[in-house]
Amino acid sequence: MLDKLFATTVVGSITRPRFFRQQVDAYLERLAAGEDASDEHILTLMERSIPYVAALQEAAGVDVISDGEWRRKSYLGIVADMLSGFELHKAVVDDGGIHDGYVGYTITGKIEPTAEGLFAREAQLLMRHTTKPVRIALPTPYHVARVHWTEERSADAYPDRHQVAETLVPIIRREVELMVEAGVPFIQFDDTSIGRPFSEASESAEFTEELGYAIDTLNRVVDGIDGVHTSLHLCGKREVGPDRTPGYHALAPALSDLQIDMPMFEFKDIDAHDIEVVKGLPERMEIGCGVVTAKRHGVEAPEEVAGHVRKVLEVAAPERVVIHPDCGFSPGVYWNIDIDDVYGKLRSQVAAAQMLREEIGA
Ligand SMILES: [Zn+2]
Repeated sequence: MLDKLFATTVVGSITRPRFFRQQVDAYLERLAAGEDASDEHILTLMERSIPYVAALQEAAGVDVISDGEWRRKSYLGIVADMLSGFELHKAVVDDGGIHDGYVGYTITGKIEPTAEGLFAREAQLLMRHTTKPVRIALPTPYHVARVHWTEERSADAYPDRHQVAETLVPIIRREVELMVEAGVPFIQFDDTSIGRPFSEASESAEFTEELGYAIDTLNRVVDGIDGVHTSLHLCGKREVGPDRTPGYHALAPALSDLQIDMPMFEFKDIDAHDIEVVKGLPERMEIGCGVVTAKRHGVEAPEEVAGHVRKVLEVAAPERVVIHPDCGFSPGVYWNIDIDDVYGKLRSQVAAAQMLREEIGA
């Protein structure tokens, strides 16, 4: 990812302080009630808060930083801010309960860009406030289609999820192109849906076909786009393995077909099965090691963090290893890991990286 060994980064979102969450919540209530809510107040607050969240990550020593996704109502809801055809409703986001978000959107109409370049503009705002390289996350077409399409409400506009994904591939691709033009060095795709449904179907031809489709749609988004580092945050995938054993079994070897520079794994409970998956990845891929827990309170010691990474180093060269948390700290506005703990966790992963560099004499 960088020339530096054991570079550290984040997975998009950073916890928002209470003052901020309350403002966004009130704003969403107004929107959900159908009131004509003005964006201006909340957008101003968001923009004034970006320098703070950049400073937090810089102070922790993180190498590649994000804007904490503070401008987003949720990691996924961002698409409704840039596309027509989505209807807001206050409900649990159907992403398998992984993020516990409860602001949902449903596709109810024709999807067309209404704010092209939104991700590039997010990036530019962050870049004005930092000299660090930045990463911007956006959901995959497949994930948006899986979460926001419902038989009852979306079928009039799009007969099935794949039609939605097909519509989104060129739209998301355009966002990627505009980010590259804006000089964004790192782009992260989020996909909680890839590899679902979980274990009970993972042996079936239908599962394999759907997984192949998810990978193909993402490959079409990035096909031929150069000059940017791409990663895929594989969220909640530890349940995918046979009998829901922790691991990424069901996704391998299909993962090797991904034209992405770095899959980002949850490796806080890394085991022998995960190691086999890592061994099977092509050398061209870096290995994102999510070894700091984003959803647990309390701060892990650097030694504990380094311990997880050492297991990866038994089978992969240090040049391929990148360290990050196992998920975003606050994928929706409601997640509530203490922001000082977030800082502590980021400090821990940076200290672990330094410890590992010293161990191998780098
Ligand atoms: Zn996640």
